[in-house]
Amino acid sequence: MAHELVVTLPDGSERRVPPGTTPRAIAQSIGAGLARAAVAARLGGQIVELDRPLEQSGAFQVLTEKDADALYVLRHSAAHVLATAVRRLYPDAGIGFGPPIDDGFYYDFAVPRPFTPEDLERIEAEMRQVVAADYPIVREEVSRAEAQRRFAADPLKLERLGEIGDGETISVYRDGPFEDLCRGPHLANTGRLQHFKLLHAAGAYWRGDEKRQMLQRIYGTAWFSKNDLEAYVRRLEEARKRDHRILGKQLDLYSIQDLVGPGLVFWHPKGAMLQFQLRRFIEDTLLERGNQLVYTPHITREQLFLKSGHLPLYGENQFPAMAAGEGEAEDVRYRVKPMNCPGHILVYAAQQRSYRDLPLRLTEIANVYRNERSGTLHGMLRVRGLTMDDGHIFLRPDQIEDEIFALLDIVELVMGQTFGLTYRLDLATRPEKKLGSDEVWEQAERALEAALKRRGATYRLDAGGGAFYGPKIDIKFDDAIGREWQGATIQLDFQLPERFQLEYTGSDNKPHRPVMIHRAIYGTMERFVGFLIEHFAGAFPVWLAPEQVRVLPIADAQTAPARAFQERLRAAGIRAALDDRSDTLNYRIREAELMKVPYMAVIGAREAEGATVALRIRGAGKKQDVLTQDAFLARVTDEVRTRWRGP
Ligand SMILES: [Zn+2]
Ligand SMILES: [Zn+2]
Repeated sequence: MAHELVVTLPDGSERRVPPGTTPRAIAQSIGAGLARAAVAARLGGQIVELDRPLEQSGAFQVLTEKDADALYVLRHSAAHVLATAVRRLYPDAGIGFGPPIDDGFYYDFAVPRPFTPEDLERIEAEMRQVVAADYPIVREEVSRAEAQRRFAADPLKLERLGEIGDGETISVYRDGPFEDLCRGPHLANTGRLQHFKLLHAAGAYWRGDEKRQMLQRIYGTAWFSKNDLEAYVRRLEEARKRDHRILGKQLDLYSIQDLVGPGLVFWHPKGAMLQFQLRRFIEDTLLERGNQLVYTPHITREQLFLKSGHLPLYGENQFPAMAAGEGEAEDVRYRVKPMNCPGHILVYAAQQRSYRDLPLRLTEIANVYRNERSGTLHGMLRVRGLTMDDGHIFLRPDQIEDEIFALLDIVELVMGQTFGLTYRLDLATRPEKKLGSDEVWEQAERALEAALKRRGATYRLDAGGGAFYGPKIDIKFDDAIGREWQGATIQLDFQLPERFQLEYTGSDNKPHRPVMIHRAIYGTMERFVGFLIEHFAGAFPVWLAPEQVRVLPIADAQTAPARAFQERLRAAGIRAALDDRSDTLNYRIREAELMKVPYMAVIGAREAEGATVALRIRGAGKKQDVLTQDAFLARVTDEVRTRWRGP
């Protein structure tokens, strides 16, 4: 061991300390304030506890509450405090994994019955006792035999232990009565954990494997300040109110049914209208920009996906093969398609193409099926039947920049102008293992960057993050409550044109290989509509709203003029419904509000006589404007035409 360690502080200065010095001591030597604020430290790339004796030199930084990594340390420790509390209340509970996650932590327990909300209250109270005891969280390195002895009663821990390699350090952390097999890092004491809350419990298969035992997972969150904790709990509450699964049911947009299977969406009339409007918008937009519609088969011979290379690579995500068709050899099998690329390639290849034909832009809103694991499915956001707004562009390498520029224009029109979303672009470039020459990659990456710069777009560079077959631009956006969503991708591909030997005749009369772009704007209809439901909390802009106007006669005498107005709206292409039930007007307005209908057109005796409507606007309370039926119709028509984001 060296006689002296050299730690380099963030300001570049160096400190020489004897081996075994703790980060706490170094922090103390820098300043008492820093030592008090310290949560953990970073040495080299690794986060270490404050009381861990250092044995290596390297870049050194004290982590305080301001560092994002400090939250990770806090939450890791919170998971241990949770397990400590559970073990005190349920001494026989088996323990699985307890990692920190985004915004919180969880811990998996093997217990005979699920935890109830009352159990969680008791456990949280017990956690406060563990915090009050302010146990030091002590790290210890042990031999395999010793670890086996300590966790002899915890088969899940023994299983994990068996996976730790012979050369690896086995570390154990103890806080008070509880001991866990863990790599760390953690807080120095349980008392540092102050602002936390248990959120919910759910069943979870051990290691996410449905063939293994079902454990009970408790989720919690932890923060450094009361304000942060409260703000987070409010965000959760807000997210819960927007949950597309709850709103999807309340607004009668879609269902997923056991008889049919998980991850397969039934679009009810109102949900189907959302999809229809989105399709019209994107198809019109694409057609105006030189795209061409195609339709390709849902099932194909398996050979297609062998040739494309999808089957060997992504076979597990494809549904199993179907028997041969009538009159075909036994060994011919069919597959339902998981993607549209090979189909569009065959359309390209069905003809001799010249350089003048390029770019050839094929687009199809198509259903594909992927055999996602059932544990990962989630409402409309993660499904097995996907409706993609899928497009493939075949082009010459020298056309990449202009084409990307044009695609970014569509992204801006849809995400920015129409939905008012703040989105980010990530440019992912050549990874180490790649297909195609450096020269081709160079040219493509330069073209992508040039297009991004020409658009004046700010983008992040994800160096090395591209797929092996080409660079890409990922689109991410934030919803109304600040959550980030993964949007569509614009992906260049040098591989598939190669596999399918695609060609075009150049101006030199020689055959050349085109480049291919995979692009989607929404991504999938399921995911995008799920996002829109949550983003708008079900209150869609008028152009998108499944029902745009609800006409409400005040009394029976106005039913006929109200119906006439509804019909007039419908004839003008406006989605208008009539509620002429005998319930009170207030009751019917409340119902329309619940269904988040943008406009309620009330027609009483005076309105019927003067061909006017008393207009109520969604969410605006009792306030109402009286305007002529002509003016109202013109107003709504204009709002729909311009895809206005209100009301
Ligand atoms: Zn841990
Ligand atoms: Zn594709």
